[in-house]
Amino acid sequence: MTDAVVVESENKTAWKVVGDTGACPLCGSHQVKKLLEAPDRFHLRKETYRLARCASCSGVWLVDPPKPEEMGPHYDEEYHNAIVAAGEGSAELRWRDQRNLIARYKQGGQLLDLGCSSGGFLSTMRRPAWKLYGIEMEAGTAEKAQAATGAEVFVGDVLQAPFAPASFDVITCFDVLEHVYNPPQFLAKVKEWLKPGGIYHVMLPNIASWEAKLFGTYWFGLELPRHLFHFSPQSLRRVMSDLGFEEVHLSTPRVSYLERSLDYVAGSAAGKLGMEQTPQSRPKPRGFAWKAARKCVRMGVFTPIAQIASWAGAGPSIEAVFRKR
Ligand SMILES: [Zn+2]
Repeated sequence: MTDAVVVESENKTAWKVVGDTGACPLCGSHQVKKLLEAPDRFHLRKETYRLARCASCSGVWLVDPPKPEEMGPHYDEEYHNAIVAAGEGSAELRWRDQRNLIARYKQGGQLLDLGCSSGGFLSTMRRPAWKLYGIEMEAGTAEKAQAATGAEVFVGDVLQAPFAPASFDVITCFDVLEHVYNPPQFLAKVKEWLKPGGIYHVMLPNIASWEAKLFGTYWFGLELPRHLFHFSPQSLRRVMSDLGFEEVHLSTPRVSYLERSLDYVAGSAAGKLGMEQTPQSRPKPRGFAWKAARKCVRMGVFTPIAQIASWAGAGPSIEAVFRKR
């Protein structure tokens, strides 16, 4: 047996070696198993991707992900439009829970939002008590964020940003960590930039949620191949404690991928019946009957399950705060 762990897919084609050494990229364990194989359902593309799971820390990652220079087509204009559409509506309302959570621990100072997009969250933190910063990959989006929030926004990769050590009281990271190639390296940078006692507030999908288990390869939170890592409360705690962070809050709220996941299931069923499928990357307006049916399912079946799952720590999202000692 070599160091390399080779996992096999259902069709018995040997998978490529996981990571550089075959070890879990989060904790280094060699207890690596196949989790699932699925295509990019958002774009309705055919190519499939494979996720591996570490039995030791429960970390899940994309095996053999596209290289950074190959990612362009996966983050196309349709994807960006969908992100913008999801962020429409009242930013104050959308980010209320995050603001309240931060206010429990910090009431002002230097705040950095990683992957700040067009500044939706930062715009709601615009108060004299806060000096705001952001990091955003895309230049046009960064410009919008700067104009909307007054924040200083660095354009480029997080690891390239020139902030000095111990600069920030709060670093926020909403739906970003799962897109990162090397989370431990990324989080070490977060730790370096935080002041002692500073907090890191992270939000991301929960691969150990009831939704992820129920929908399997149809779970919208998979976002293949854009999500490179899939955390559970257990694996997030493990990687953060390995870096020396202290956990001060972790919950699994009901922020849900349910309707989009249901759309994947319905779309796939329609496809099998020979009907035309519409990718979510090019959504069509839905009729009244469809919306009413979806609402009945949601209210009657999923809402009660979702509440119980969230209480049990198996809600679809993870919302956590860690403190630098
Ligand atoms: Zn692991």
